[in-house]
Amino acid sequence: MSSYQFHGSLNKLSGLKPGKVVCVGRNYAAHAKELGNEVPSSPVLFMKPATALVNWNDQVVIPTDRGECHHELELAVLIGQTLSSAYETEVEQSIVGISLALDLTLRDLQSDLKAKGHPWEMAKAFDGSCPVAQWMPLNSIEELSDCLLELSVNDSLRQSTLTSSMIWPVVPLIQYISKYFRLEPGDIILTGTPAGVAALHPGDHLQAKLANRLTIDSEVTARD
Ligand code: ZN
Repeated sequence: MSSYQFHGSLNKLSGLKPGKVVCVGRNYAAHAKELGNEVPSSPVLFMKPATALVNWNDQVVIPTDRGECHHELELAVLIGQTLSSAYETEVEQSIVGISLALDLTLRDLQSDLKAKGHPWEMAKAFDGSCPVAQWMPLNSIEELSDCLLELSVNDSLRQSTLTSSMIWPVVPLIQYISKYFRLEPGDIILTGTPAGVAALHPGDHLQAKLANRLTIDSEVTARD
């Protein structure tokens, strides 16, 4: 991906280069439970490189030769300023956009890697593992904890949550991340997935919604 997609009012950001993606696992208690995981006492962090990013348009391309590939619908946050051990107000000022992303996960492979105590990257950071939709302006900081996320697959609702159900709300989460990883303009935070993750199959029709602000319709296709 050479550039992000922006809502017209964010055209001023069009020079922002896609950066790294810092993700949090198990940020919704019901999702931790569905995978048989404990709710952790501090955020579980992992990263996807910029090469994982693709624009989320009318197609979602998945590998089909490595076991199940699961959808994880997540609120995505775009960072516009450098953050390192940041204060709350710095984090608030640094957020320049919100959107929806898929944290595509090769679940069988991840389970194997977890069982062996190995890192997750092969299951989560592969090329194309992070489709991200167009960036919308953030109306207010309060909006971050008041967004409805929804994903339907073949017209049946699979994932639905209010972001108020997050264990670590967005701003403190980004503060925590910035203690370990310096965030730079163009970096993205993926804020965790709610319950309802499941395998995708070529031909599936996805409809994702971010409140009444963004709707994405796409079809799942197999990577050659
Ligand atoms: Zn995730």
